[in-house]
Amino acid sequence: MTQTASLATYRMFIDGRFVDAASGDRFETDDPFAAEPWALIPRGGSADADRAVQAAHRAFISGAWPAMTASQRGARLRRLADLVAAKADALAAIEVRDNGKLFAEMSGQTAYMAQWFHYFAGLADKIEGAVLPLDKPGYFNFTRYEPLGVVVAIVPWNSPLLLAAWKMAPALAAGNTLVIKPSEYTSASALELMKLVEEAGFPPGVVNVVTGVGPEIGMALVEHPRVAKIAFTGSDATGQKIYEAAARGLKRVTMELGGKSPNIVFDDADLDAALGGVVSGILAATGQTCVAGSRLLVQRTIHDRFLDRLVGFARAARMGDPMSADTQIGPICNRPQLEKILNYIDVAKAEGARPVLGGSRASRPECGNGWFVEPTIFAGVDNRMRIAQEEVFGPVLSVIPFDDEDDAVRIGNDVVYGLAAGVWTRDIRRAFTMAERLQAGTVWVNTYRANSFLSPFGGYKRSGFGREGGQEMIKEYLQVKSVWMATTAAVPNPFIQR
Ligand code: NAD
Repeated sequence: MTQTASLATYRMFIDGRFVDAASGDRFETDDPFAAEPWALIPRGGSADADRAVQAAHRAFISGAWPAMTASQRGARLRRLADLVAAKADALAAIEVRDNGKLFAEMSGQTAYMAQWFHYFAGLADKIEGAVLPLDKPGYFNFTRYEPLGVVVAIVPWNSPLLLAAWKMAPALAAGNTLVIKPSEYTSASALELMKLVEEAGFPPGVVNVVTGVGPEIGMALVEHPRVAKIAFTGSDATGQKIYEAAARGLKRVTMELGGKSPNIVFDDADLDAALGGVVSGILAATGQTCVAGSRLLVQRTIHDRFLDRLVGFARAARMGDPMSADTQIGPICNRPQLEKILNYIDVAKAEGARPVLGGSRASRPECGNGWFVEPTIFAGVDNRMRIAQEEVFGPVLSVIPFDDEDDAVRIGNDVVYGLAAGVWTRDIRRAFTMAERLQAGTVWVNTYRANSFLSPFGGYKRSGFGREGGQEMIKEYLQVKSVWMATTAAVPNPFIQR
């Protein structure tokens, strides 16, 4: 049992100050490798949501932030990018402590996060309106792109800082102010990041972080009348609740939701590369990624051979301390998620799927008391089974054979989600055709899990809407105004539309 006194204690960041929850309540956040609490986080409620939104609103309408030029905003973001780059490893170590993902992966993410800030820093002063060639004489008409106001960013636990940065960088570049609500399982890193926000010279209230339980403080933010937009990443079940609440307030939303992505291996593929891609799709980050290639579709002609190799590869994967450079599979982020994954394994078995690897909680010595699940592969899966239809968010792979392209497309698209898909083939015609026919926001051909701030990322179908990354997406944080100016002294008839 951990003594509360020995735990690190965090405070929320509101209006440029680190503060406790108005109630004074806190909750413990756990280290999934040690399977015990390591820090205390403020349990904010509606009073804290209101404090943060009011601060963000004040910062949006008055003071230093709206007075800045776009270039000055960009300069602040650039400073933040440099500070993030300098502290990338320290931030990553906190992420690992909180969510158990590998330090190698998290330090890559935090270092790359700096690039998101740099990119949108550069875009801040390239938001240009247009002069429109009107069909009516006597007018000069132009457009301006303006920020929305207070943006609420609600993010999940699997890549806490990177996913916050995907929203923060464009929202700030566009001139909005922000309230970030990290997951209750991984709040520490966002609060650490606020020290860098302060150092970068953002005026008080421009960026705020509040912490607490989703349905409490998260919903209070969504329902707050001064909030203009909710940028959400998380499960489709939560997304639906937020969308409904946002609709009542007529607020803008972007939704980055879950997936059940097919990773499709044809018999003409480079099978070594495909093997690596399939493993990265389901075992990297212990399968806790929205783009997990959790359905492996293998052409029947190579099914048994490929499955044998895959099982051998996955069996040899090293589990253990996520801080160790040798570890390939870390723990599951939190206890409810561990239980959810184990429950899905039971569901798959009950449905008649055949476990060919794993299928239980891991109890290897190197896993200690941690929340580990053995890499799990089910063969003989029918795509209509729940294990093939529902997002598990863990190292659990469903293997489904297919006959030809049509069959692969039919099975690949036969889920409610459409976040990503992988295709492995050497045939260029097939590569293009599959990329066109798969209903997914991202299609990877002969690669998997590639991502860049330059390329749009987001979902089809129940995986959401709105895109993150790329020049166009800054418009998700802007609204356009049309300005009409009369250039003639003539006074038109006031009773007729001009
Ligand atoms: P979640 O939906 O449980 O929680 C996400 C966030 O929403 C958390 O901050 C949580 O506190 C908050 N929340 C929960 N209930 C709320 C409510 N009623 N009102 C307001 N806020 C609420 O998701 P999770 O378990 O943290 O994350 C895993 C999910 O996120 C998976 O479905 C995964 O696919 C998805 N995800 C999607 C992407 C993407 O870009 N598409 C990226 C990463 C993760």
